[in-house]
Amino acid sequence: MELSCSVCSELYDPSAHVVTTRCGHMFHNDCIITWLERSQTCPACRSECIATGLVKVHFNVTAHLEACTTKLVQKMDNLTLKLEEQAKTLKQMEEKSTKCREEQTIARQTLQDELDNITLKLDAQTETLQKIEKRTGKCKEKQNIMEETLQILLDEVRTQSTVIRDLEDKMDECTVGLGDFLTNMFDTSN
Ligand SMILES: [Zn+2]
Ligand SMILES: [Zn+2]
Repeated sequence: MELSCSVCSELYDPSAHVVTTRCGHMFHNDCIITWLERSQTCPACRSECIATGLVKVHFNVTAHLEACTTKLVQKMDNLTLKLEEQAKTLKQMEEKSTKCREEQTIARQTLQDELDNITLKLDAQTETLQKIEKRTGKCKEKQNIMEETLQILLDEVRTQSTVIRDLEDKMDECTVGLGDFLTNMFDTSN
């Protein structure tokens, strides 16, 4: 239960100077004194009221403190409970975070391994390619030499063809000459 002064609307502090009127209403001493300077009536019920009729109120402070302590203990328990829940949530989040970090590390390692494999394969392929290029160069050299040799042979064949043609021409001339000779010989014998 919380009690308040109806003049200033504030709750009563256990150490406050609180008074009650003859009509039984309770106010801060300062509040009701100031009030009664203007009007000789109770602020709560308008009954006739004078400053000399006010009676000081004595609170049972221990009981109040106990109630306060109980409330505080309850609040503390609630806060402790919330704190424990938050700590639990935090721990779960930390665990998740750790798991995530581990998974990330594994994923990164796997990627690195794959990258290393690809690099190795690439190196091997580059080496093979270089060998093929070297071989192709040698083949081209051989081809050039063979083409040159072929050209020389062709020239020789052409030269020999000319020689053969000349020989054929000479043979033709000889044949004509022999024919004439034979014809003359037979004409003479007749
Ligand atoms: Zn007051
Ligand atoms: Zn009153």
